[in-house]
Amino acid sequence: MRWSADPASGTAAAPQELPPCTSCGKGRLARDRVRTALWHGRRLVVVEDIPALVCDRCGERFYDDDTALALDRMRGAGFPPQRALHHLEVPVFAFEPARGPGGSATGDGGGNAPE
Ligand SMILES: [Zn+2]
Repeated sequence: MRWSADPASGTAAAPQELPPCTSCGKGRLARDRVRTALWHGRRLVVVEDIPALVCDRCGERFYDDDTALALDRMRGAGFPPQRALHHLEVPVFAFEPARGPGGSATGDGGGNAPE
């Protein structure tokens, strides 16, 4: 009689080979814990420690159905502030449109062309 050290050895349903990234098609996915920021109405909330598959090439994240469902449920619960781990102060910026090149170049037009 041998002891089985692995409590989950009964079900070998987890596939070893992870599918390739469907976003870039070339990256390999690795299991990781990620953090995401999402808008809930006018509030911005951050959810940490989300299990995800992250592409090592393009950085795209994929959540499995259970995780997506859990996030949906959290959103449905309205992210009650008393359940927050802590609060962040988030700086907000106005978009600054890019200026054209040489915007401040003012030639004096003297017409003094050296020969
Ligand atoms: Zn990718």
